[in-house]
Amino acid sequence: MNTEEMQKEIRGLLKEKNAVLLAHYYQEGDIQDIADFLGDSLALSMEAARTRADCIVFAGVRFMAETAAILAPDKTVLLPVPEAGCPLADRITADELKKARQQHPHAAVVTYVNSTAETKALSDICCTSTNAVKVVQSMDTHEILMTPDGNLARYVSRFTRIPIIPWNGDCPVHQGLTPGDIRKVREEHPGAPLAVHPECSPEVIDLADFTGSTSAIIEFAGKTEAGKVIIGTESGIIHELEKRYPGKTFVAAAASLVCEDMKKIKLKDVLAALRETRHVVTVAEEIRLPAHRALSRMLELA
Ligand code: SF4
Repeated sequence: MNTEEMQKEIRGLLKEKNAVLLAHYYQEGDIQDIADFLGDSLALSMEAARTRADCIVFAGVRFMAETAAILAPDKTVLLPVPEAGCPLADRITADELKKARQQHPHAAVVTYVNSTAETKALSDICCTSTNAVKVVQSMDTHEILMTPDGNLARYVSRFTRIPIIPWNGDCPVHQGLTPGDIRKVREEHPGAPLAVHPECSPEVIDLADFTGSTSAIIEFAGKTEAGKVIIGTESGIIHELEKRYPGKTFVAAAASLVCEDMKKIKLKDVLAALRETRHVVTVAEEIRLPAHRALSRMLELA
């Protein structure tokens, strides 16, 4: 079967099964092209919470499908490749977080959505890279423990007086972008502004012209007068940027900006999952309920 035939059958099955395909900007282009909804973590969570479909096919990684299952327990949530995980989410376990809470009994726990359901369940509130600053600024607390991404925590601490204890985790894709990469790409593309994600290291953020979530980077790329923009996040986003702004050029800040987990899902996997309604993601009720509370607090702010 060629790409077009698979895309056509997927669209047909989605209709027949009253299902929606939610896809992250970091997915392969041929999946992005047929998604009912394309977005970053915040937008996808909100869509999962409000969809009227019976089934959600999640083209993303496990924590995203889990978030959909937490927010929409009455829907069937499919993750076409169950092994599509997130090394950042795996940087903290429930036991480690329980211990950290004991060590910092007065700290509120803010957890990035790029985390397991168990971690969310032990947190006071969740955040995404879009709303992390807003979430932290809304809190009435003297101390915050922010998990699992230390870079996001350090970035957010630039905008608040509340002391933030960063968890020692990072996204290998964004952490892998170095000041050396930035110097090189700037030399190759002089004058082009650099937009990076807050999961990048503070050293890289200091060199950037703009820092924001994937949706904020898309907005920045459209608004800037520059005809060429250097992109410091997972390079899957360039597919959407080129579609939205055909007159502009987008350059990945480094060839290493590829998330292997995000790329595990192929069109054939989406088709197989839909045909057989397989790889259902569920979250046990004792974890789902407290995780739902932490996510709902965040969504109320959004
Ligand atoms: S890009 Fe980083 S945070 Fe996002 S899924 Fe991949 S490893 Fe996880």
